Amino acid sequence: MPITQKEAPIAQAPILKQQFGTGFKWGVSAAAFQTEGTWNEDGKGPSVWDTFTARRGKIYKAHNASIACDFYHRYKQDLDIMQSLAIPNFRFSTAWSRILPMGKGRPNTKGIGFYDRLIDSCLQRDITPWITLYHWDLPQALEDQGGWRNRSVLGWLEDYAALCAKQFGDRVKHWMVLNEPMAFTGVGYFLGIHAPGRRGLSNFLPAMHHAALSQAAGGRVLKSLMPQAEVGSTFSYSHIEPYRHIVRDEQAALRMDALLNRTFLEPALGLGYPVQQLPLLKRIEKYMQPDDENLLAFDFDFLGLQTYTREVVKHSFFTPYVFASLVKAAKRGVSSTDMGWEVYPPSIYHAIKRFAAYPNAPKIYITENGAAFPDQPSAHGVHDIERTAFLQNYLCQVLRAKKEGAPVQGYFVWTFTDNFEWAEGYRPRFGLVHVDFSTQVRVIKDSGYWYRDFLKS
Ligand code: BGC
Repeated sequence: MPITQKEAPIAQAPILKQQFGTGFKWGVSAAAFQTEGTWNEDGKGPSVWDTFTARRGKIYKAHNASIACDFYHRYKQDLDIMQSLAIPNFRFSTAWSRILPMGKGRPNTKGIGFYDRLIDSCLQRDITPWITLYHWDLPQALEDQGGWRNRSVLGWLEDYAALCAKQFGDRVKHWMVLNEPMAFTGVGYFLGIHAPGRRGLSNFLPAMHHAALSQAAGGRVLKSLMPQAEVGSTFSYSHIEPYRHIVRDEQAALRMDALLNRTFLEPALGLGYPVQQLPLLKRIEKYMQPDDENLLAFDFDFLGLQTYTREVVKHSFFTPYVFASLVKAAKRGVSSTDMGWEVYPPSIYHAIKRFAAYPNAPKIYITENGAAFPDQPSAHGVHDIERTAFLQNYLCQVLRAKKEGAPVQGYFVWTFTDNFEWAEGYRPRFGLVHVDFSTQVRVIKDSGYWYRDFLKS
């Protein structure tokens, strides 16, 4: 019997903040490229995404992020809204090429000044800033030298991490090295759908290995310069199930799981690459140097878990390397978001349980979860019932995992304001706050008010 929705995603009872305990961290997440705009002012260098969005045919309706949410100029206004919604933690990324326009060498004081002001403005409003060092916007100058395919990226990232730690470490106590390395290497260096638009194994494997080494190397730099800070990195994860309970689909699901969910997490935890399940990864040997097995591991203070959906997988003879393909939600006839991702609340429960099952796993923060739906703004606001239900239902499942003893200690909604959704441009809207991109007017959605009431409950 092929997989369709099995576990009912309905919130049983109103969920309350107190049920998660007092130390639980609540917040929202965002990323520099998706929000800041101002791509070439105040000394900023171009990133791979600036270049990629200028290429024809790459982005939905040729949208670009040169203005985006204009967060570079409007951050105070946005932080005021965040404060009015009682949101206590804000996870954002620093744009590498705003701080180091060439990716290395001479820092840009105006770029650093922007993040100084942003951090101070958060603190003035009792909002705790959390920094992600890298959310996909590699300086173009580094891509021109091979980018993630060049092993020198380790040193470039270490220097950038050290600079950020020295500049902001006096005020920022929560750090993440990379945002979803599987996404930016897989989609950017294998499928070519994201920047820098490269394809194939000969690009993907070195990029992947160097990103895996960099996540640990960056962690070591941050921790050595800020021993008191909490240092983590973030990982995409989708709960995976076979389409049919037949051996071929079950094996395909295991291979897809190894690729999507384990490739970066397990080396970081000291378990090496999941080569047994995915023999393809043996080809990384070509890029390995003697001590790499050890260098891939780092004792992170937390794992940032980013999860949205479940994937259902079937054997596919025509998909090279993994011989597995995803059976889309539309084909399965289950409810889905504007990204075409299945709405399946138990997926977050399974994700947390899986992370928690690793014997040496540290605490877990959900650093991203949320949903895009086609919002209909009216004179009376934005009544995004589906997003509100999504958040409530997923939170019920977070609580379920927590009650069973999983060390999940935080939850960040993706995302605060609608923003630039990569290759999908401005079409999908994930925000708690609606943005009219032609006027930059912000309207708090009902989900934003719901989050406020929940946080104040
Ligand atoms: C990324 C975000 C993205 C979100 C929704 C995450 O994988 O970190 O940048 O906007 O998913 O697609």
